[in-house]
Amino acid sequence: MTPLNEDAGRKRSPADFFFGKVIGEGSFSTVYLAKDVHTSREFAIKVLEKAHIIREKKTEYVMREKEVLRILGSSCSYFVHLYSTFQDRERLYFVLTYAKNGELLKHINHHKKFNFECTRYYAAELVLALEYLRSKGIVHRDLKPENILFDENFHLLVTDFGSAKIERSEEAGDDAEKSLQRRRSFVGTAQFVSPEMLKDSTSSYPSDLWALGCIVFQMAAGEMPFTGPTDYLIFAKVENLDYVFPDGFDERVKDFVEKLLVLEPNRRLGALDAVPYTSLREHQIFAGLDWDDLGPPPKLSDASYIIEEPGGAVPDHMEPGLDSEKVSKLVLTDMIPALKKSEPGRKITDLSPEEIEKRLLLQATNAYNDFVGGHLILKQGLLDKRKGLFPRRRMFLLTLGPHLYYVDPVTMTLKGEIPWSEDLKTEARNFKTFFVHTPKRKYYLEDPEGYAPEWCKAIEQVKEHYFPPGQKLA
Ligand code: ATP
Repeated sequence: MTPLNEDAGRKRSPADFFFGKVIGEGSFSTVYLAKDVHTSREFAIKVLEKAHIIREKKTEYVMREKEVLRILGSSCSYFVHLYSTFQDRERLYFVLTYAKNGELLKHINHHKKFNFECTRYYAAELVLALEYLRSKGIVHRDLKPENILFDENFHLLVTDFGSAKIERSEEAGDDAEKSLQRRRSFVGTAQFVSPEMLKDSTSSYPSDLWALGCIVFQMAAGEMPFTGPTDYLIFAKVENLDYVFPDGFDERVKDFVEKLLVLEPNRRLGALDAVPYTSLREHQIFAGLDWDDLGPPPKLSDASYIIEEPGGAVPDHMEPGLDSEKVSKLVLTDMIPALKKSEPGRKITDLSPEEIEKRLLLQATNAYNDFVGGHLILKQGLLDKRKGLFPRRRMFLLTLGPHLYYVDPVTMTLKGEIPWSEDLKTEARNFKTFFVHTPKRKYYLEDPEGYAPEWCKAIEQVKEHYFPPGQKLA
């Protein structure tokens, strides 16, 4: 393998890679499939806009991810490996192992659930990954099927260490890391969060054992153990250990999960192991397994949905590097299906009085009609509105008037309205995320369906209709 570590050779730069398609979007990053110009080897390159990181106060999160990936190194194959980092004036680049077969979540969802063989195999890989984390003094704190990826041979690769905690810092050593540890803050994801994190914002190795219990449950049942319409209700279920096994749930897996989903952290299976995690290894779910060689993964019953990219996903005719033009070109390529959704050439405000009247009559049967004060709904859809840690799903209603209302679709209550003015602006970050800037606030919105540019376009058209350009008041 060609060494790619910074220490092993000269510092890399974007010009050492051909950047291909966008393979993922985080809140603060875009992940590209890239090919090393010199070796043709494929990598996932996570690109972070410096200005965005600073604006959103995520410097600590990024530093932590880099530091933990450095500590993990490359000796355990169950983690995404950080090969190199570099930066240019605007961006930070993390060169990572390319997880060709995507997120574990995608595969669980496709199969509805995993059979016993697959569940126990991936549970075993996770146990080995947790043993390694423990040996390095690291608590992941956000383990969930979205943060577990599959490599080309369907082995697990744990990723996303932005929320991790360095419990034993002899490897990290520096003061900055120690101060990161001291600060107590809520991290994680509602459905996988441990009871101790909810109770007193503490977490340690057993918190990852709790998450392991949740993941194994999800693999075998096809659904998460703790769910609910709001984070508050999910937390209440976690604190009360309120979950049920579906009918037909394998008894061996049930016993394993029950021993991990225990409220008291130190009573979870493995928590007090002198040699972590012998008691997990010895559980009956793993009977007959050779821990020194788990062998190849059992076949997922149906792999027909895994589409191979014809002729490779990084076109060779591209210029190496990633300039602003290429960023927008790459993002736009992914946006094309979204942009196609609208009728070309027609603005959503191009409506005759008759048409408005007809549509208002039809609108009477719309469940959200009561929230829009008699205004015509031009566009509506569910968006995740981010504020703080958790996004809230809201029905957004863009209407004549103009108004942009948002309603809680579970309680069916009007939560608010984005105030209009001639200074309102939209900004599409990618096909999922967009911002609405108002003079007083920035609204951070995510369209789970990937039509963010479509939303921006619609809002801009309404703005143009009510605040025509060139007529801005002095
Ligand atoms: P957030 O920051 O909002 O929590 P995230 O942590 O998932 O999101 P990233 O780590 O930037 O953000 O990843 C974005 C997406 O890119 C992921 O959901 C994943 O599907 C994909 N991805 C990330 N790393 C890799 C990788 N090494 N190989 C393949 N795909 C990846």
